Amino acid sequence: MFINKVLKASVRTGLRFQGTSTKVAASAVRASPGGFSFELTEQQKEFQQLARKFAREEIVPAAPLYDRSGEYPFPIIKMAWELGLMNGHIPEDCGGMGLGIFDSCLITEELAFGCTGVQTAIEANSLGQMPVIIAGNDAQRKKYLGRMTEEPLMCAYCVTEPGAGSDVAGIKTRAEKKGDEYVVNGQKMWITNGGKANWYFLLARTDPDPKCPASKAFTGFILDADSPGVQIGRKEMNMGQRCSDTRGITFEDVRIPKENVLIGEGAGFKIAMGAFDKTRPPVAAGATGLAQRALEEATKYALERKTFGRFIAEHQAVAFLLAEMAIKVELARMGYQRSAWEVDEGRRNTYYASIAKAFAGDIANQVASDAVQVFGGNGFNSEYPVEKLMRDAKIYQIYEGTAQIQRLIISRELLSRFKN
Ligand SMILES: Cc1cc2nc3c(=O)[nH]c(=O)nc-3n(C[C@H](O)[C@H](O)[C@H](O)COP(=O)(O)OP(=O)(O)OC[C@H]3O[C@@H](n4cnc5c(N)ncnc54)[C@H](O)[C@@H]3O)c2cc1C
Repeated sequence: MFINKVLKASVRTGLRFQGTSTKVAASAVRASPGGFSFELTEQQKEFQQLARKFAREEIVPAAPLYDRSGEYPFPIIKMAWELGLMNGHIPEDCGGMGLGIFDSCLITEELAFGCTGVQTAIEANSLGQMPVIIAGNDAQRKKYLGRMTEEPLMCAYCVTEPGAGSDVAGIKTRAEKKGDEYVVNGQKMWITNGGKANWYFLLARTDPDPKCPASKAFTGFILDADSPGVQIGRKEMNMGQRCSDTRGITFEDVRIPKENVLIGEGAGFKIAMGAFDKTRPPVAAGATGLAQRALEEATKYALERKTFGRFIAEHQAVAFLLAEMAIKVELARMGYQRSAWEVDEGRRNTYYASIAKAFAGDIANQVASDAVQVFGGNGFNSEYPVEKLMRDAKIYQIYEGTAQIQRLIISRELLSRFKN
């Protein structure tokens, strides 16, 4: 709490990140007369260093235990909250730091290096909060975002259902207006932080007419998790990121006051999809952090393990494999940074966000698998860190839009530019 306050104070007093203050913008221009720079501001470097130190000292040693037990890593989350390493994008008028997406991504990459199960639990807060940040009115923002700056609370984004994931417009959860309330019935699935959340962003169908377009048929709500009728399912046992809390949730005659509607009836689909422009860059940053970890573990191992009288790094086949891994990690980092920078500049970044997410998700899987290869038999064993990375990586090609859905978005964006 103390450090959180100190960091907030330093951010408020003008030590702010690139793109969020004229002071920093001016220094960025000085550093880069051409208007293009890879140099982080001093403040960004501080946050990156803090997150790096925290990940290496606190997350890395605890990660294997959480992976084995599947226990929710709340002690680590609480420390991250105290250090100001989560919820950074909550606006200042709600008590937060008001960081940009670029800044949040730098932190996310470092946390993911430590353990992407922990990072996903933290990132799911950003996903749950984003609809409220982009579409909440003053009272909603202050009430639901404000409380997250006072104590380490979690929230969740409730959209996917057992019958509809990629095809969001296929969701069946219904919200019917009755007086000043909406009554919700339905079921959600695969909700990260589902059993730990204090509140949910919930997408439900308000127009029963099947001919009604998605852009008008759905409404976004904020729902208190302790509302009567919310039934939280069992924690799912997943292939990787096992300490992250993933659950199904059933809603039985759950009443939501009309004050908790975001923007208005029918605006939900756009809000739910719009959040992804700001949350896909951090997901890509998470995948990059995992890939960086795999690269580092493999490189260190290749400099320790000997075969045929020499370090395996001295066999060209292994050295070149490490080089290929490094190429992928560097390019994934550039991809997420570009997509984050675009949205912080106030530009539509859908194209870049999907490119970043698709690429980083794919290379995280390739690089983690290559790291297992470099470790040989040891790589296949849970005493070594890389088999966990390979299991953890898979989800980056699935959640927040699968690898295929990203390509659908990229191709649509690309083709529309040529058609216009
Ligand atoms: C661990 C975990 C955490 C998650 N967290 C959340 C969360 O917090 N909140 C939330 O709302 N959801 C969450 N999800 C859900 C996740 O976003 C969905 O699983 C994902 O969007 C895919 O949906 P689906 O599982 O229904 O697969 P489907 O949509 O059934 O897709 C199955 C396969 O078909 C492919 N496919 C589908 N449509 C097309 C198409 N048009 N063209 C080409 N290929 C296609 C897909 O790419 C995929 O390979 C989570 C999922 C998991 C596993």
